[in-house]
Amino acid sequence: MSEYAGLGEVSGKTVLVRSDLNVPLDGTTITDDGRIRASVPTIKALADAGARVVVTAHLGRPKGAPDPAYSLGPVAARLGELLGQDVAFATDTVGDSARETVAALQDGQVAVLENVRFNAGETSKDEAERGAFADQLAALADAFVSDGFGVVHRKQASVYDVAQRLPHAMGGLVAAEIDVLRRLTVEPERPYVVVLGGSKVSDKLGVIDNLLGKADKLLIGGGMVFTFLAAEGHEVGKSLLEEDQLDICRGYLRRAHEAGVELLLPTDVVVDTAFPSHDRAPEPEVALSSEIPADRLGLDIGPESADRFAHALADARTVFWNGPMGVFEVDEFAAGTRSVAEALTKVTAAGGLTVVGGGDSAAAVRKLGFDEAAFGHISTGGGASLEYLEGKELPGITVLED
Ligand code: ATP
Repeated sequence: MSEYAGLGEVSGKTVLVRSDLNVPLDGTTITDDGRIRASVPTIKALADAGARVVVTAHLGRPKGAPDPAYSLGPVAARLGELLGQDVAFATDTVGDSARETVAALQDGQVAVLENVRFNAGETSKDEAERGAFADQLAALADAFVSDGFGVVHRKQASVYDVAQRLPHAMGGLVAAEIDVLRRLTVEPERPYVVVLGGSKVSDKLGVIDNLLGKADKLLIGGGMVFTFLAAEGHEVGKSLLEEDQLDICRGYLRRAHEAGVELLLPTDVVVDTAFPSHDRAPEPEVALSSEIPADRLGLDIGPESADRFAHALADARTVFWNGPMGVFEVDEFAAGTRSVAEALTKVTAAGGLTVVGGGDSAAAVRKLGFDEAAFGHISTGGGASLEYLEGKELPGITVLED
């Protein structure tokens, strides 16, 4: 088990594994189990090596206190199915149930602790409060494996502080993710094309800064595109718009031009009068992106833009894609995302490296029926991969390197 060589012999030891099991749920039904499946190999490798594996993870954003809507119970059950073995579930994270569950584990068995964010200490900005919680987590185990790539950019108790308290190692998933991201930053094969979309506009603008010096083409879709269109002076109707980012977007447009980076914005968009909801059937229309009516909002890139984006990707040798091109959850607004995904599969087939980053982008690829093997790498972490590409330090990685 060379991956965990840093820990030496793990047989008979209790190993705390931080996984990213933050999957989308509809009630108690898991609608996409990609992150659970991605977590299985490390957990299985440790269990097969005879470790007593204790998995800690979060689900959603509970407010630092137990909330049944965010219980990891259904996730633990699914993990058991995927592992093909019973998985014990502790109904708290560091309390009596956790201690009893961990104490009852035999070599090779696996337990999941209840949502780590049911404890205020997990995400606290107060070092002492976070540290006190990390002490409790660390007391449950002999060693720590960090395998939740989706959270390594967070300085949180189960990601960062606990690694300072136990012998630790990087899990196989995190190692694989970092390896791929390094290939994107160190001499990527060219042309290198980056596709950005999704709804978290301000989260994603930072990465553009760094990419303007690295990528050959930058294709922008999704919700963030409207801030760029507005920065170019267009009316964007009721579309998603972050007014306080307009100047930043203007700066990027100028710098892209100066640096000779091709920055592609959609020329047409699919609009509707309201955001899709269960109450009304979508009524999609195509509008020019320079002429979005005041009472409409953009929900996908239009057909002409989908073709242009696919064309711009055709000769790529390296592609990083984060964020869907539209509200792909609704069929009427999924075509742009499908077109980009399709273009990536062709790049993969031609021997290029394609990386899909972000929980929603990965879910989109699966929901639209693409074979995961048609992409070079599907990352489990949106924010973490973006911060890596921004050149930021990831606390959950740095702490493992000491
Ligand atoms: P994560 O950061 O969670 O890993 P991600 O980076 O893949 O995910 P997000 O930024 O979370 O992606 O954005 C995904 C969401 O963006 C989807 O739910 C999609 O419906 C929404 N979205 C895409 N285009 C638009 C648009 N034009 N207007 C509003 N929302 C949009």
